[in-house]
Amino acid sequence: MPRNPRYDVLFEPVRIGPVTAPNRFYAVPHASGMTNAMPRMRAAFRETKAEGGWGVVCSGYVSIDPASDDAPLPYATLWDDDDVRSHAMMTEAVHRHGALAGIELWHGGGSVMNRLNRTPSMSPSGTAWMPTHVSYIGNQRPRVMDLQDIRGLLDAQRRAARLARSAGFDIVYVYAGMGYLPHEFLLPEWNHRTDAYGGCLRNRARIVRELLAVTREAVGDRCAVALRVSLEELRARPSERAPSEAHELVQLLADLPDLWDVKMDSETTDCAPSRFAPEGSHEPVISFVKSITGRPVVGVGRFTSPDAMVGQIRRGVLDLIGAARPSIADPFLPKKIGEGREEDIRECIGCNICISSWHDCVPVRCTQNPTVGEEWRRQWHPERVPAAPHSTTVLVVGGGPAGLECALTLGRRGYEVMLAEAGEELGGRLRFETRLPGLATWSRVLDWRRSQLQRLGNVTVYRGNRLTADEILELRPGHVVAATGSRWVPLLYTPLEVPSGTLFSPRVYTPDDVAAGARLEDPVVVFDFDNYYMGSALAEHLAGAGHHVSYATPSGLASAWSIMTNEQPQTYRALADADVAMYTLTRVESFEHDEVTLINVFTFARTRLPCRALVIVGARLPQDALYQELTTRREELLAAGVASITRIGDALAPGAIAHAVYSGHRYGRELDARDEERALRRDAPVRTAIHAPTSA
Ligand code: ADP
Ligand code: SF4
Repeated sequence: MPRNPRYDVLFEPVRIGPVTAPNRFYAVPHASGMTNAMPRMRAAFRETKAEGGWGVVCSGYVSIDPASDDAPLPYATLWDDDDVRSHAMMTEAVHRHGALAGIELWHGGGSVMNRLNRTPSMSPSGTAWMPTHVSYIGNQRPRVMDLQDIRGLLDAQRRAARLARSAGFDIVYVYAGMGYLPHEFLLPEWNHRTDAYGGCLRNRARIVRELLAVTREAVGDRCAVALRVSLEELRARPSERAPSEAHELVQLLADLPDLWDVKMDSETTDCAPSRFAPEGSHEPVISFVKSITGRPVVGVGRFTSPDAMVGQIRRGVLDLIGAARPSIADPFLPKKIGEGREEDIRECIGCNICISSWHDCVPVRCTQNPTVGEEWRRQWHPERVPAAPHSTTVLVVGGGPAGLECALTLGRRGYEVMLAEAGEELGGRLRFETRLPGLATWSRVLDWRRSQLQRLGNVTVYRGNRLTADEILELRPGHVVAATGSRWVPLLYTPLEVPSGTLFSPRVYTPDDVAAGARLEDPVVVFDFDNYYMGSALAEHLAGAGHHVSYATPSGLASAWSIMTNEQPQTYRALADADVAMYTLTRVESFEHDEVTLINVFTFARTRLPCRALVIVGARLPQDALYQELTTRREELLAAGVASITRIGDALAPGAIAHAVYSGHRYGRELDARDEERALRRDAPVRTAIHAPTSA
């Protein structure tokens, strides 16, 4: 299909200082969880984006000095020649596809704990950044930087910029955002200095100006120098000389960088989940930048729609369409627009499972794109699958995320696929979950797979078909895949955080009961030890339907795990807005006589709440009875020509949707694969450095 001329503007080259981006698609720096310990995985991950048409592909955050050590979080380093060789794998890979490679040079300042090297961290005035946040929590304060430290910082940036040039990067960053060291200088709460680096904004911005100068000096006219800066807090601050301190900062530094990369200040706003923020949520903060600087501007906004992208350019908000999450969910997004295949774009759903991977200190995972992080390790390409070695029929039972992805992958490979779903609609758990507050965007998981399946002549979908073992034996498929999902169970919880006895009582419910339309009497108590989104989303949902709702959890925080996905602050706001009373550090001790007794997990103090409906959001168990029956009838299956029966997704191990999609994809890829094709390749650092320079 030819490209829609409306989108031509996205394919115009953009000059960035001495280099030229071939188009306006810009994969911004973002953590990938792949450190210098995994250089091949990292190179292949970034290469896939370049192959998919991103004109610029950037690294994640790269430490310029051993005194900026984010351990145990997975950060990259550029300290010595070993590191140069490690990063060169990525730049060579990106250049093979005609894209530019950018590197985000980073010093964490008061946000890091230097746990690994045990050098006290440093910040402008000895203040730590969010010292009780899960990522940063520690028990040593930073030291106050003196002028020697400032010279050391500039030396480290200069040295790293030279190394970046040697590694083949085209765009070299100064990073003044997200609470990292140069950003701490910009904000008066962290910068109480009385010397030339503190006080008025001109002084607070001095370090950024100097970092830009040493970077330019180091890279000469070979590389562009980019400034990545967080503007959210500064935008909210009045200035005597401009509409805000953000405006004043851009005026002060206007054309010093070759590129402005502008963003928000904290993970929750910068990488906001779709549950609480729409596409383009940065625009009110960053839209002014282009009116001040003559340099190109890149920004993000979870853009997946080419019309929204064109709108950003036409309205003069951005010159380059930045993307982290959309480039993870679909590395081939630009190519698909270029080839007039917009409907093939696998749109990011804004669930932030990718962010949770960074918090988990592991290579990036994605709900929509199961191949991410596996490009080198498992040799999975997002757009290509190996052809089926021979023609066989595969029956996939269950049309939830696992079954859909499995059927699609098998279908793309050329197998004859039957997908049977008990319900009248495909989608499994998504059918209900996408109706919960804020989760409508998640229906993209279903929509994309359903539309792709419709194009495959070799996949037949049967709805309203709850298959039994006898029926499967009659069908005589070559293989059976049970993607039959899981059920929530009304388990309770012991003081050791072990699910205990099941509480079956007429007015005890699970999320499945609510999904099935159970009529709840008020008041309702939602007891959550699942700790992800279901408990709070359900409480919000029920409150929105007019119920009087309380939320209780044994954890110290509501939806405790959702801190991993940047959802927690907004979850609290949503529950407060919905008038949901919250009880943390409590577990349900009993439910009788229209009363729930909660017991504090530490103090054992009891709280009694009126309750006529208790919704337990705790454990899910595999719904695998069909699989179990089939395995006991293996002889009959073999006689009917069924070579294998396999469980995938929640029917194997209940988890997040990302796990189910991955499980379905893996089965689809690996059916009939040879052992060596299934093997997990192990990456290794380029070489162990003997020593590394340090300014601290
Ligand atoms: P997953 O996340 O692993 O895909 P889901 O619970 O979302 O799991 O989806 C499982 C799907 O399997 C549900 O849509 C359910 O209706 C379907 N299912 C369960 N048992 C059968 C069966 N015997 N025949 C057909 N479909 C089934
Ligand atoms: Fe988007 Fe979710 Fe994938 Fe992250 S994990 S890129 S938010 S779909």
